[in-house]
Formats: sequence, structure tokens, C-alpha cells
Amino acid sequence: MPVADAIKASLERSSWIRRMFEEGRRLKEQFGSDKVFDFSLGNPDLEPPAAFVDALKAAASTVQTGTHAYMPNAGYPFARAEMAVKVSTEHGMTGAGPAGAGPAGTSQALTGDEVILTVGAAGAINVVLKTILNPGDEVLVIAPYFAEYSFYIDNHRGTMVPVQAAPDFSLDPAAVAAALGPRSAAIIINSPNNPSGRVYPRADIEALAAVLAAHGKASGRLPYLIIDEPYRDIVYDGIKAPPVMDAYPESIVVSSFSKTLSVPGERIGYLAVNPAIADRKLLLDGMIMANRILGFVNAPALMQRAVAASWQAKADVSRYEKRRNSLAAILDTAGIGYARPEGAFYLFCEVPQGQSPRQSPAKQPTPEGQSPDVTFAMHLKEFKILAVPGVGFGKPGWFRLSYCVPEKTIEDSGAAWLVALEAWRRN
Ligand code: PLP
Repeated sequence: MPVADAIKASLERSSWIRRMFEEGRRLKEQFGSDKVFDFSLGNPDLEPPAAFVDALKAAASTVQTGTHAYMPNAGYPFARAEMAVKVSTEHGMTGAGPAGAGPAGTSQALTGDEVILTVGAAGAINVVLKTILNPGDEVLVIAPYFAEYSFYIDNHRGTMVPVQAAPDFSLDPAAVAAALGPRSAAIIINSPNNPSGRVYPRADIEALAAVLAAHGKASGRLPYLIIDEPYRDIVYDGIKAPPVMDAYPESIVVSSFSKTLSVPGERIGYLAVNPAIADRKLLLDGMIMANRILGFVNAPALMQRAVAASWQAKADVSRYEKRRNSLAAILDTAGIGYARPEGAFYLFCEVPQGQSPRQSPAKQPTPEGQSPDVTFAMHLKEFKILAVPGVGFGKPGWFRLSYCVPEKTIEDSGAAWLVALEAWRRN
């Protein structure tokens, strides 16, 4: 037995995002990259802002004793302090003490002690789950959800409980209330959302906080609210992601600079714990331990220095907005319905009427093969358009397009979309 059963099972249900990305690589080698329209992977292609590059250069050229040494597992104290300022500002945590001004009386500003630098947002989520889950504990996620959540929850022997979003992809507090149970350890929310692009308004957040608080009162166990927000700054049309942490005491922010500074390969992120959280010291000690024993040991030293000095810089969101608009115009012409994204860089689209799975020549013998979105994604692949089926996000009947691709790829794909849709409708 070369690999464990669990990893074999993970390989078998491996994310559609990766599968389509690999397919894209194969097609590009065969036909040339200008002939393939790869909308599969959310891999930011903009250059990082100059402030980040300058900070990185300055950090790399400043070498003192201990610059490359091990550090406290939670990260450099100065980097933790900077992230505490960032999270406090973004989440309305400006009050002076435990009885602060936030709606739930939880708006005390964070200090560096409540922050841990992590290996991206993915590392942060794994650290949180490792710290809080007992085997069989449940973690609620809002569908459509980031496909990797299922693997992360599985890593720590939890059970994922998908809860459908409202039809407009906002939160559905009644559905969350119905899904909460005695084993509910946490709920993960992601706004701006991958894949729907929805930014949850403050009213949704407050309604969710009320549901969680009521559940905690009735059951004696307050679920943690894990706020996953690597796209917080990638928002359009003047929309701003509202604060969340101040609405609910048992809240934890997980985030990274992968998208906002366009540096996903550098693996730098953080987690931040609400100062009002019960047993905060024990929770943080557990998280620092998890950061260490999951094998990360600490977040990359050079990157901690770079982001501590440049976190206020942002990637050029107007480029993404332009791309969103031009891809949306193409979809409008092709007659494909979608949720208009308020943030992130994905278009979540409905599989158009047309071919039934039974008639599809591209039907694949996969476990999800009956799902219309898989059939449609396979159909698009015939026209060298790569999209990710919605099943992987817990939303069959939909598919995701990532528009962090060059403007020219979007423009050049227009004709292929029309031909692909005509063929789809003909059958
Ligand atoms: N959460 C969401 C919703 C994401 O889309 C991603 C990456 O695409 C992550 C977390 C992981 O981010 P990172 O690359 O910082 O680990």
C-alpha cells in the first residue's frame, strides 16, 4: 500500500480547479497558449505594488545577527503588531476595553498578542481547525464554498456541513440556524466570496451573529465564526466589505496577502483572534502550537518583514474590474446568466439550457458525470475554454470562471464562446 487510504480518497475527489488547470496546461502545450482560454485557476497575474517590492528589497538587504534564525513560532513581534492594527481598523475594533462600542460589546482593539503570522490563509485555516476540532466535530460552510475547505476540515477529522446560500448568494441565517447542532464547532464564511463574488452586507453579518449567539445560549456551546477574507480589498462599484469581527465575540479572522498584494507564491498570511473570545490565552497557545507542529514552524521571515512594511499597499483592482466587465459583456452576448461579482475575481455562471447530459458526446464516466455543470465544462473544453464545474463548490448546475487572466485572453475568447454555445444549443 504506497499511500494511505485517506490520501487516496482525497486524490480521487481532488479539486476540479486543479484538474482543469492541468487540462489547460496540456492543451496549451498541444495548441499554443494563445489558442487556449484558461479561466480555471484564481492565480493573480498582476504585478505586486511597488511599495511591496521596495519593502522586500529593503528587508533583503538589511542583515543583522539573527536575521535568518528561528523566531517565536507566532512570528516577529513587530509583524504581529502591524497585523493587529490592520485587523482592528478593518473590523471596527477600535474600542478601549472589553465593553467597547461594537454592537456586541466586543470591539476592543487587538494587540500583537492576538495575531499569528501564517503560511497563507490556507495555513491559517488549518491552524485554526487543528486547534479547535475534536474528531467528528462539525464545521458549517456556505455553499457555494472554496473547494479546499472540505480537505482542510478532513485533515483535522472534522465533518463539513454545507449550508446553501440564499438565491442571490447572500447569507441565509435561517438555513444556518437549521444546520447548527450539538457538534457544531465553527462556521466558515468567506466574503468577498470565492466563487460567487458576493460581499456579505453588514445586515447579513448581524443576522448570522444573532443566530450563532442564540444557538450558543440554547446549547451551551458558542460556535466559532471563522472569517476567511483574502479578497477583502478586491471589491468593485464602490462597495466596501463591512467589519465582521466586532459583531460576534467568538470570531477569528484568517487572511493573507496572496490576492491583495498579488503574491500567492510567497505564502504569507495571518490569523487574528477577537480579544473578547473566551479562553483567549488557551486558544492562542493552542494555535501557536499547531503552527509549529503542522510543520510550518513559522511564516517565512523575509515575507513577514516585507508585509509588515507594506500591508497598506494594494494591487490594482481597477484592472480586475475592467476584466470583469469585458468577460461579463461576452457572457451577455452568449446568453449565459451569472451573479454579478461585487468582489474577488470570479464569475459564477449558470449552465445554460441546451444539451441534456444523456445526449452529450463529452459525457465523462466520473462520479459527478451526471451533473450538468460537469457536462458543460467538458463541452467548453472541446472549444478550448476551461471552466470549473460547480459541483466542486457544492453548487451543481453552475460553473466558475476566473478572470485573473490577461485582457487579451478574455477578448480573444469571445468568438469561441459563441461557437461553443451555438453547438451546445444545437444538440
Ligand atoms: N480562502 C479562499 C476563499 C481562497 O480563495 C483561497 C485561495 O484561493 C484561500 C483561502 C487560500 O489562500 P492562500 O493562498 O493565502 O493560502
